[in-house]
Amino acid sequence: MKNIFKSVLLILFLTISCNEDDSLGNVLNTNNYPYKQQVGYSASDILSNKNFTDIYIEVMYVDGFRPSAETLTNLKNFIGSRTYKTNIVVEERLINISKKSTYTIDDVRNIEDTNRGKFSIENQLVISALFLNGKSSNDTETTTILGTSYRNTSFVIFEETIQAASNDILGPSKIILESTVILHEFCHLLGLVNLGTSMVVNHEDAAHNAHCTTETCLMYYLIENGKNAPHWVKNEQIPQLDTYCINDLKANGGK
Ligand SMILES: [Zn+2]
Ligand SMILES: [Zn+2]
Repeated sequence: MKNIFKSVLLILFLTISCNEDDSLGNVLNTNNYPYKQQVGYSASDILSNKNFTDIYIEVMYVDGFRPSAETLTNLKNFIGSRTYKTNIVVEERLINISKKSTYTIDDVRNIEDTNRGKFSIENQLVISALFLNGKSSNDTETTTILGTSYRNTSFVIFEETIQAASNDILGPSKIILESTVILHEFCHLLGLVNLGTSMVVNHEDAAHNAHCTTETCLMYYLIENGKNAPHWVKNEQIPQLDTYCINDLKANGGK
């Protein structure tokens, strides 16, 4: 039954794609690049220019939760400094969704599937970045989730949680917190840590998979936790990747 459903979906998808192709008059690559794979699957495709020379970040936000222009510039600069992409485009789009106060990752996947308008094709790799109201269903007493990478080219930012964490007088500014979280999630798509990009030297936090052991590194696990935000007030700077993480990226086709 499941397979029949899948086939119907696939046929439907191909039909829609062909129609789009006719209207645009472009040559269609029906072997569309997969976008429902696990996080890290596209690490080397994002890092190197072997399969894709260009990258397009499709930012989709819910009204009232648009990311700062500075944050998107920080992301663009980061991509320029760590990957070999020659053309980096970031575009924003307001989306209308039936808002919830709490989102599961299944909800997030559905929102992406309903609203995503761009897919990787030819020399351009597309990343989907969702900025939502509300909070993650994985929030607990001690953890508030600021962002999550959930597919090979997709991540979500819980913007309302970021706004709340940065409103704290002891906390970092919104731009610093938002930039830090978006770069952290993007680095998961780059395969850090040990998530599709192999480690040159072991530095994966044994207690927190896919994170770095270095406490000052961008890939330290607490970066994603809003409850930790006040600890960043000391320097008001975006944490950088440490040498372990950078060496992993270099070994997998990045800079
Ligand atoms: Zn993380
Ligand atoms: Zn690191």
